[in-house]
Amino acid sequence: MKVISENARGYVCLDCNNSNLFEGMSDLYRLYKPSNPGSTNYDFDNEIVCPYEMKCHECGSRNIGIEIEAGEIIKNNKITDQHGMWLIGERWLLDVDDSNDLQDLIKIIIESEGEMKSDEAYSYLMEYGWDDWNWDEEIFSESELLFSIVQIVSSGIIRQDEYGLGDEDSSYDNARYFGIC
Ligand SMILES: [Zn+2]
Repeated sequence: MKVISENARGYVCLDCNNSNLFEGMSDLYRLYKPSNPGSTNYDFDNEIVCPYEMKCHECGSRNIGIEIEAGEIIKNNKITDQHGMWLIGERWLLDVDDSNDLQDLIKIIIESEGEMKSDEAYSYLMEYGWDDWNWDEEIFSESELLFSIVQIVSSGIIRQDEYGLGDEDSSYDNARYFGIC
């Protein structure tokens, strides 16, 4: 997994230099798994924030770059023109022009939670796609899933710090999932 350099700020407003608060739309990814082995209670630890539309919370500018090394800012990126580099979650960097970007994203979601089977999960997703999710965790235990990946469409505040991106004061829209046995 590729991450940006430790002293890089990540997303930065090219007009006012803000790198902490943005507003926009994101996909949130959660990996639900049994809270204990054999438990029927499914829960998640982290939420991976993947913004795809963002403006500066301070000045309203949509001129957003990605600082990947101190002083090195990528101006054309997924946020500004749907191409190139995309910064998500805990400072992971994906290239959306690379045909494997979804596979890389699935790998990040699964392996950052200490699970394996990301190749199986990607193949499953390609073959069967997502199912709509009604926010009921019990459906995961009914089919005894090893884990389930949930995607939620969120709009609101995107906060950035040295650990990466967080989602705040957001309203959630439709959610969908797929599970791995
Ligand atoms: Zn700004």
